[in-house]
Amino acid sequence: MSATALTRPDSRPLDKAGCAEAPVLRERGQREVFCGLTGIIWLHRKIQDAFFLVVGSRTCAHLMQSAAGVMIFAEPRFATAIIDERDLAGLADANEELDRVVGQLLARRPDIKLLFLVGSCPSEVIKLDLSRAAQRLDRTHGGVRVLNYSGSGIETTFTQGEDACLAALVPEMPASRATTPELLVVGALAEVVEDQLRRLFDALGIGPVGFLPPRRAHLLPAVGPNTRMLLAQPFLADTARALENRGARHLPAPFPLGAEGTTGWLRAAAEAWDVPPATFRAVTAIGEQRARTAIARHRERLAGRRIFFFPDSQLEIPLARFLSRELDMRPVEIGTPYLHRAHLAAELPLLPEDALLSEGQDVDRQLDRCRAARPDLVVCGLGLANPLEAEGIPTKWSIELVFTPIQGYDQAGDLAELFARPLLRRAALAV
Ligand code: SF4
Repeated sequence: MSATALTRPDSRPLDKAGCAEAPVLRERGQREVFCGLTGIIWLHRKIQDAFFLVVGSRTCAHLMQSAAGVMIFAEPRFATAIIDERDLAGLADANEELDRVVGQLLARRPDIKLLFLVGSCPSEVIKLDLSRAAQRLDRTHGGVRVLNYSGSGIETTFTQGEDACLAALVPEMPASRATTPELLVVGALAEVVEDQLRRLFDALGIGPVGFLPPRRAHLLPAVGPNTRMLLAQPFLADTARALENRGARHLPAPFPLGAEGTTGWLRAAAEAWDVPPATFRAVTAIGEQRARTAIARHRERLAGRRIFFFPDSQLEIPLARFLSRELDMRPVEIGTPYLHRAHLAAELPLLPEDALLSEGQDVDRQLDRCRAARPDLVVCGLGLANPLEAEGIPTKWSIELVFTPIQGYDQAGDLAELFARPLLRRAALAV
């Protein structure tokens, strides 16, 4: 398929992708995607003594509440400091208000060891300098580290909130003095997944292994020239750059989704540690086979089904690779908000040649393409799911794929099931 053949009169031309030679449709228009505040929903459960204070509006607070849904516990580790009309009109000193709110919060919650001030659209509009506020509050409240990052919809989409948060942590990481390689796994993973992966690294003789983000603020791993980093998530461009600036080296790998992806991801570390191939096979064979068996249970329902990805979580490319190669699904369009070629270098060659790869969004045009294609399943954000369902097109919410543990061998069957379920539901309704 040539780039020229895929040029559309109503869109920007398709560029040739460098490494994978896949043409890419680039679109810049209206987009339909959550802002970076959403990342707090999974990050607050990960770093157990951290607190996320959104400096935002009632809209931000409502987003957090509805995205968190049933996951709000008695003492949530996030809240919103509301910027009200007086702040927006410049009648109140927003810094004074913020200092007061933070003082009250930290007096009431001595368990907080790390406080993130999270910027939003309103805090950007009134040009509240949260970096200076964080430095000031850090000096005032000894014993609590105060950092800031932006989750605003002007600057970030959905999973970029995690990237911004982790990038803010990188300068806090101690300098490593290691003289031999250390592995750093980058990206929030469910603890159960982290434990499984750690056991595999132990069995392979790979270590020491650090995880970013850590489970507790004081457990931040060290970084230095002997750090070899494996990305667990594909949306960490800024974090990876910050780590590279501190000497870490990226290990190119597919992402650990499905049996094949997990093996490829582990192999990247094994090769960097010179693990003998026979040892690698002995350690990974059982897990890989277990994953393949679990995945196979869903193949009958999914094989041959056409799937369309709207750009949302940046997980779209590894997911499309998994679904096409391990479940024989047929991706029609694989939309991603951003295409980071270096981080996806091991994924792009594994995508089916006839799938349209698109970066960015012009939502109306993409909806037209989707309706014309009539796929069997659409992966999209909540805002698009309802109208598409109403038109008879089954959907899978991409946010579920970020909240659910899906990485590693033991989650591969669950990952396949997440895609089978909407089709099962639709079939049950049709009976
Ligand atoms: S940060 Fe912006 S996009 Fe996100 S909820 Fe607040 S106002 Fe809306």
